[in-house]
Amino acid sequence: MKEIRTRFAPSPTGFMHIGGVRTALFSYLIAKHNNGSFILRIEDTDQTRYVEGSIEVIYNTLRDLGLNWDEGPDIGGKYGPYVQSERKNNYLKYAQQLIDEGQAYYCFCNEDRLEDLKKIANNKKIPYKYDGKCRELNINEVQKRIEEGEKYVIRFQMPRTGKTIFDDKVYGKITVHNIELEDLIIIKSDLMPTYNFANIIDDHEMDITHIVRGNEFVSSTPKYVLIYQAFGWNIPEFIHLPVIKKEKDSDKKLSKRDGDATVEILKEKGYLNESIINMLALTGWSPGNEKEIFSLNELIEVFDISGISKGNAIFDVDKLNWFNNNYIRKLSIKELCQLTIPYLQKSYDLTEKSSLWLEKLVSIYQEQLSYGAEIIELTKLFFEEELEYDKEALDYLQTIDTKAVISTLKEEIIKINDWNEENIVKAINNIKEKTGIKGKPLFMPIRICVSGKMHGPELPMTIFLLGKEKLIKRL
Ligand code: GLU
Repeated sequence: MKEIRTRFAPSPTGFMHIGGVRTALFSYLIAKHNNGSFILRIEDTDQTRYVEGSIEVIYNTLRDLGLNWDEGPDIGGKYGPYVQSERKNNYLKYAQQLIDEGQAYYCFCNEDRLEDLKKIANNKKIPYKYDGKCRELNINEVQKRIEEGEKYVIRFQMPRTGKTIFDDKVYGKITVHNIELEDLIIIKSDLMPTYNFANIIDDHEMDITHIVRGNEFVSSTPKYVLIYQAFGWNIPEFIHLPVIKKEKDSDKKLSKRDGDATVEILKEKGYLNESIINMLALTGWSPGNEKEIFSLNELIEVFDISGISKGNAIFDVDKLNWFNNNYIRKLSIKELCQLTIPYLQKSYDLTEKSSLWLEKLVSIYQEQLSYGAEIIELTKLFFEEELEYDKEALDYLQTIDTKAVISTLKEEIIKINDWNEENIVKAINNIKEKTGIKGKPLFMPIRICVSGKMHGPELPMTIFLLGKEKLIKRL
């Protein structure tokens, strides 16, 4: 059987959008599930959109997530170079071949003429399409105009009759009438190929068997199919992925403007690579059963194209938090500290805190933590002088008499000489004996007094970490 070869072909235009990373992941999984190769190609033919540093961002993001490529700009491979701008001399000869065969033509229509055509279409309320005027030019006239230095582009000549059909692995059979297709520009006036042309040539030359990309490319694919056919090349499999939305049943696309839409931001907030991968895998794909937690290796094992859905790709932050919490709970204490302590360092003065104290502090929140940066808010009560009380806590305090518990707590705390958890437990037991109050009316006032909240980690440990002095002040 032919080796399966997939590619991820980002344009270096800035950050790594979640949608792009999902494309990379699915492309990677299809290759690896089939023992195939995953190729990284940088598509930088549109130099006006180039953003400095973004190739590094692409490398780092993919590497960090474990999506290692088998061939790419940095590691080479037998189909290199893997950067489109370094292949630029390659495309013209293919365009020339199409011209020689009468399947492409020089077009001299300038911006003004195209603008006029657009206006006319607009007025008639019909979709704009280039009218093919330059198809008719004869070879001598073309030659003369080129020699005179007139600017031109090269367009592919779409057939005007018949239909083009392709079988998308996700969306099924797609049919278009060729008459609807515009003569695609394949070479721009700067003699650089358009993305539309370069992707076909590169995918063919790199022997790509499965093309995975966002479904915004569905409408262009019939044009690509016609170009493959014009060259007489094998047509690869097409796998278009559903748009990622923010909420179910809404049209809200996840966009770069959304705070959570780039991997950088997720990482900054302290989301783990495992959960980003796990969440993205389930954004538009399902294993066909209830299982939700998957490592990258498990995904390689089970990923099947038939599980990709046409819709239903929802990137829900609550769900991401749920995944991340699952993975955070499995971290070793050392890993948990590595994840959380940098946030504490940035937000609070830790000069007087021992590493043991910090370790204990973060570990009491391990069960509930959703993402690294959340530790800042959760541990506020240990660092800030003024305690903030939750409304529900204040409401609760209105319903009972807390005086006896609080004053006895104060007495008992003052009495503790050796500040440790065991003595704190003893102190709480003493309050119970002295006041005769037990259960919620005993614990809740203490918890609220200590933390301002009705819920939180284990009380004696919280009190221990808060420290005697700070607690007495608070009481
Ligand atoms: N360079 C294109 C982009 O970043 C890739 C599309 C494709 O995968 O062919 O949108």
